[in-house]
Amino acid sequence: MVWRRFATNLWRGPVTETAVPAPERTVAALAERLDAAAQTCLGRSLALRHLDAGSCNGCELELNALTNIVYDLERFGIRFVASPRHADVLLVTGPLSRNLHEAISRTWMATPDPKWVVAVGDCAVDFGVFKGSYAIGESPVPFDLTIRGCPPTPAQLLEGLLALLTANERTSQRALS
Ligand code: SF4
Repeated sequence: MVWRRFATNLWRGPVTETAVPAPERTVAALAERLDAAAQTCLGRSLALRHLDAGSCNGCELELNALTNIVYDLERFGIRFVASPRHADVLLVTGPLSRNLHEAISRTWMATPDPKWVVAVGDCAVDFGVFKGSYAIGESPVPFDLTIRGCPPTPAQLLEGLLALLTANERTSQRALS
């Protein structure tokens, strides 16, 4: 019986959907520009800290994809760090559960300046599918950028970060002139 099932499964092959090919060139170009912008703004590579505020983990899967062998962002100097004390950018996912507001505030306070906070995914932007729930509330910290999507793709995440650094670079130049 077991052998028959084993043979059937071998014959049938995987039943998961075929993966959509990653836009490798687009992602590589975005990541290179992002790395260059980080060097200009910060004088070094970009450190990202993820902050889960009640997410379903869909957004996390896409954030994780940035570090897999397809996107491999570390080769461009963009990396995730374990502590907010080492971060430049906080990436907030999830519908901002009230019981995590204190954690959001404390993580924000622990992140050194200059820092940016990015709302990643529809839930963090405007509560998404959780809108109307008693358990969620407005973010206790200001967002510098919002990246929509449920979940956003890795390419959208990179585009958002690039827009953030480019805008900041323009503001700094205006302040200097
Ligand atoms: S935006 Fe979508 S994928 Fe992301 S946490 Fe909300 S429901 Fe999940």
